[in-house]
Amino acid sequence: MEDLSKLSELLAFPKEIVLLSHRNPDGDAIGSCLALSIYLQSKGHKTSVLFPSEYPLAFEWMPQSEEIIIYDLTPSVAENAINKAQLIFCLDFNSLDRIDKMGLKVHTSTVPKILIDHHLDPEPFADLVFSYITSSSTSEIVYQIIKQLEPTKPIARLVADCLYTGIMTDTGSFHHSTSAEVFRLMAELKENGLEDTHIQELVNNSQPDKYLKLLGHCLHNRMELIPEWNLGIIYLNRDDYRTFDIQRGDTEGIINYLMMLKSIKVGILVMNQPSIVKLSMRSKGDFSVQAICREHFNGGGHRNASGGASRMSLEETIKKIKDIFPGYVFANQLN
Ligand code: 5GP
Ligand code: MN
Repeated sequence: MEDLSKLSELLAFPKEIVLLSHRNPDGDAIGSCLALSIYLQSKGHKTSVLFPSEYPLAFEWMPQSEEIIIYDLTPSVAENAINKAQLIFCLDFNSLDRIDKMGLKVHTSTVPKILIDHHLDPEPFADLVFSYITSSSTSEIVYQIIKQLEPTKPIARLVADCLYTGIMTDTGSFHHSTSAEVFRLMAELKENGLEDTHIQELVNNSQPDKYLKLLGHCLHNRMELIPEWNLGIIYLNRDDYRTFDIQRGDTEGIINYLMMLKSIKVGILVMNQPSIVKLSMRSKGDFSVQAICREHFNGGGHRNASGGASRMSLEETIKKIKDIFPGYVFANQLN
């Protein structure tokens, strides 16, 4: 962490600080921002957490989540916070198009910008960069930063809850991207009283009834398996959004059911959201869905978990996937 001493200098006196994360914030976006925000407050800073769009209801229990500023809901409040900020932290994303209109404000802002992230291919917009693609999550990097700033101090309880949420959700409940460091970190949090089972219940076992109805519909009526390519696709059309009253967060986790199949190496969820066709992709092993999202769907992420968007119709998007996919299957067979 070569930028750590510079960060320490920037934080030496109380400041107005903005912490930003990406559209459709997930557990790691929320967990890393709230953890760092609460830590910075304990050092005397004044913080604001800003997201472009709303976060899923499963995270409403998180400490200070009610104070998060959502650009879509209150753009002028978000812009004022950025205007006043003396430091801007960008967490869990690495290209400014991921924060929509706030991207331009961050781009033109002259205050120091600090990137903390674990996605592939970071854009060079930040002054200090903590970008580690082998980290499980941005929350894990936030933990390491806090630990290096204050090595002997235990992690505060509320900060621990946020860090746990980010790491747990980004590792699929400790299924992938784990490491000895992640489990050591968990042991430390647990020794300090972390109630991990309770948090798992709040995040993973608190869905409304309609979630299982939607899941059943997806698996029964909207799933297509293409065994010769080890590919599975689930799609949701506009009618499905109305019939199942699909809101933010309601499609979370559905793609994982495709990955439960032995025959599937790549799973794709195609969602005809009200304003855009959104894609979510997962893969096993060396197959990079990041390459597909980056090269064809203006997106990115990680090798085995990426996302993107399409400006075409749902049908055209699915056709495009099927047109380009054989090229990727072929390239992977050569590797
Ligand atoms: P998910 O499929 O769960 O929405 O996202 C999987 C991963 O891809 C996450 O790390 C997320 O941040 C990233 N991701 C999702 N959508 C996009 C996108 O449109 N652009 C980029 N660059 N990354 C995305
Ligand atoms: Mn993340």
